[in-house]
Amino acid sequence: MKSALLIDEDRVTRHALAQWLREAGWNVLEADEGATGLALALEKKPALILCDLLAPLYTGFQLCRFLRAKPEKLPGTQIVVTASGGYGVDRQTAFQAGADECMVKPILQSDLLRLLKSLQGTPGDTQTTDRLAAPERDDPDFPPLSREAVPEGETLVRFWGVRGSIATPGASTLLFGGNTACVEVRADGQLVVLDAGTGIRPLGLRLAGEFKGVPLCLTLLISHTHWDHIQGLPFFAAAYNPKNRLRILGYEGARAGLLSALSSQMESPYFPVGWQQLPSHIVLRELQQPQFQIGPIKVDTVYLNHPGICVGYRLNTSAGSVAYLPDNEPFQRYKYNADPKAQHGSTEILAFARRMDQKLIDFIHGADILIIDSQYDAEEYQTRVGWGHGCVDDVVALALRANVKRLCLFHHDPTHDDLKLSSMVEWARQFVAALGETLTVDAACEGQEIVLRAAR
Ligand SMILES: [Zn+2]
Ligand SMILES: [Zn+2]
Repeated sequence: MKSALLIDEDRVTRHALAQWLREAGWNVLEADEGATGLALALEKKPALILCDLLAPLYTGFQLCRFLRAKPEKLPGTQIVVTASGGYGVDRQTAFQAGADECMVKPILQSDLLRLLKSLQGTPGDTQTTDRLAAPERDDPDFPPLSREAVPEGETLVRFWGVRGSIATPGASTLLFGGNTACVEVRADGQLVVLDAGTGIRPLGLRLAGEFKGVPLCLTLLISHTHWDHIQGLPFFAAAYNPKNRLRILGYEGARAGLLSALSSQMESPYFPVGWQQLPSHIVLRELQQPQFQIGPIKVDTVYLNHPGICVGYRLNTSAGSVAYLPDNEPFQRYKYNADPKAQHGSTEILAFARRMDQKLIDFIHGADILIIDSQYDAEEYQTRVGWGHGCVDDVVALALRANVKRLCLFHHDPTHDDLKLSSMVEWARQFVAALGETLTVDAACEGQEIVLRAAR
């Protein structure tokens, strides 16, 4: 009997596929994350692997590249990457990684039967790797910063870049700011920077002025490597001080590792200073586990609905929690609008989209501060479905369902001037008030500071 291996965190998806495969005469193996899935694949050599693109520990892309680099280990195994989003770029990347097919979830029984019939393809132009992320080692903790820099019992959030896509300086964006994604968080003795868009440049100048000759240790978390989240890094003054220690953490991108994505933007002819020439002490670590610590701060992560691999972070500090989801398109509306099967009233698709949104709601539940992609208003969103960004109405609804205390609209569209953003905030506040709720809503604004204080 032929064996199929299902790698998917979503139990409902796994069980439905397993049942249909068994009915079709297959022996079924299951794993809820990529590392166990890889071990099972190498041991049992199944004829077919269905692997979720966003499986924990190893993504579908990583598994494909690794298994295709060792064809002698799994001769004849066909690999199907299953993607929650329907982004064309993800499908292309899956094939480049060596997948035989890429299917959009939820997969219906008829889709699966069609797949089983048709799977005879051979991988084309494949990018493989014989390495997977190195096992995570614990970096020695950074010594806590002074109490002057990080007051005890307080968590400070400061916005340095709030724009999405591309920096938009000018008279029309003076109020909210034109720099791309960068948020500073100081808590529990640690300095954490979320993303390295162009806003990290003024942050670097501020830190240089504040710390002067004192060596600085900071942790930079990268959500993903789209330009608006990394482009400021070559201009970050803290990286040019040999006394400073920078720890840069993120996840492997869709096509290339984190180091390659960050360093290639500094290669000639794009930039005059190479990555290796940065004088500060930089440790770059590709993460694998969904949870980790930055000193006493526990950090949780979640995959977001955005082309490629994009991760949201939740910093659980002693004075409260800050959730940062810079680029995300909520599932339910996306599926309704983008998936033709959903438009024909598929209950499976509706149930799947609800489960995906619920996962996000669980992740942000009770957050003191939620910083989240709200790039469009509801009308604009209609013509931008599937671009990987959210709209204000959906984001407010998510925040309310998750009992968030304070919502910061983020990743402002480059075409939105101060007037437009002010009207979007006003709309969001009226929406909240009309529902009789107390959620505080702001549009994140360059230079804005929010302080959380630990309850005594
Ligand atoms: Zn972005
Ligand atoms: Zn992006």
